Amino acid sequence: MTNADYSDIAYEVIGSVARVSHNRPDRRNAEGTALLDQLDDALSRAAADQDIRVVIVGGKGDHFSAGHDVKEAMGRPDVVETRYAYEEQHYLGYCLRLWDFPKPTIAQVQGACIAGGFMVANMCDLVVASEEAYFSDPVCGTLAAAATEVLIHPWVLGLRTAKDFLYTGRKMFAEEAHRIGMVNRVFSRASLEAETLALASHIAKAPPFAMKMLKRSLNRTADMQGFRNAIQAHFDTHELCHTTQEYKDVRASGLAASIGRTKELAAK
Ligand code: ZN
Repeated sequence: MTNADYSDIAYEVIGSVARVSHNRPDRRNAEGTALLDQLDDALSRAAADQDIRVVIVGGKGDHFSAGHDVKEAMGRPDVVETRYAYEEQHYLGYCLRLWDFPKPTIAQVQGACIAGGFMVANMCDLVVASEEAYFSDPVCGTLAAAATEVLIHPWVLGLRTAKDFLYTGRKMFAEEAHRIGMVNRVFSRASLEAETLALASHIAKAPPFAMKMLKRSLNRTADMQGFRNAIQAHFDTHELCHTTQEYKDVRASGLAASIGRTKELAAK
């Protein structure tokens, strides 16, 4: 694909840094199938390009991403086999490919970073955020599912905070996320893009093979602590929730009601 083929993302090369951005600002960068396919394609392209040393994953407009395109998802058939295959590829598979990406990655977060967006941002090695950015995953309360498909939360928030965050579905603003170590750096909204690029350009100066090995070792440390098994086990648990009466009731009550509950929770 060339850049012109991307309808839902933007792919920019700045020196040795590639910036891949969610680009549906009128839909709060909702992650539909086209967007996720294009994000994955762009990452493959950046991995293959010898001149690219670091990748920034961001979002155009006011928000990083408000999460999966629920409207699109509600239109897909409510059949276990097809849903499992879809989510295994688009949610679990693409996330693990981002986690395993052979070069350093930085999530650049402004505005909302919710549910599926939270999942994607936290698969990056570093997370930087603007002061007004906020994170949430309300899907237990709103969609009757055990969190999003990829349970990265306890790994980046710590178990105690992950329980608070997921049980309540509340918003966590950048300052708190920074204090507890989920976010590496916080910048003003006006300087976020320049500061993220400066950080990426700094990291890009390191010898690329050594950097690749460093990332591999750090990720293997997480694997030895059970990271990959835990992520894969949760995926099946999440899929189970899509078959419950609770979930069927939510689906039957419709999209508007679900969005209403999300807004109610977000206000808290
Ligand atoms: Zn799901």
